[in-house]
Amino acid sequence: MATVQVKRRELSFGERIYLPEVLRGLKVTTRQLFKNMFTKKDIATVQYPEVRKEYPDRFRGRHRLMKREDGSVRCVACMLCSTACPAKCIHIVAGDKGDQSVEKYPVSFEIDLLVCIYCGFCEEACPCDAIRMDSGRHPLPSFTRDRQRIRKIQLLEDGGPSIAVQGGKGT
Ligand code: SF4
Ligand code: SF4
Repeated sequence: MATVQVKRRELSFGERIYLPEVLRGLKVTTRQLFKNMFTKKDIATVQYPEVRKEYPDRFRGRHRLMKREDGSVRCVACMLCSTACPAKCIHIVAGDKGDQSVEKYPVSFEIDLLVCIYCGFCEEACPCDAIRMDSGRHPLPSFTRDRQRIRKIQLLEDGGPSIAVQGGKGT
């Protein structure tokens, strides 16, 4: 196989001492600094949390658990979401609801947000419109790992009512 030899270009004296290149870089930085100070155009930095960027409709934020019309959790602890979850970060403990039409409910429902990869599979797998990722909220920073494990009570705080028919039909 033929080989091609690539000749390296000799650096000039100015390039070898770096100083002109450093000054050239500083010129670009200074020009941008004054441009940002006086024109305030094309500034990418957002003054969060006072200013917030609009997210696209398909943005997947922190999960929320939806409620029935009577305010109870829609989840029937079928485990489809935790089975579909590739990160195995959903942990549900099912309990008997004592209602033949529903049968089960989640006694505890926990998601480890540090393990979650925000793929949305849980939302897609759910046949009850019980879990959504349309809260538009980021997970909040915390000092401990445990605070990143969101539980049923927090998931329900954002959860609004859903009138979708259990089993995936309807709206
Ligand atoms: S978004 Fe993906 S990784 Fe996160 S809980 Fe849902 S299925 Fe699991
Ligand atoms: S798939 Fe839906 S109904 Fe089933 S356990 Fe998950 S959130 Fe609950």
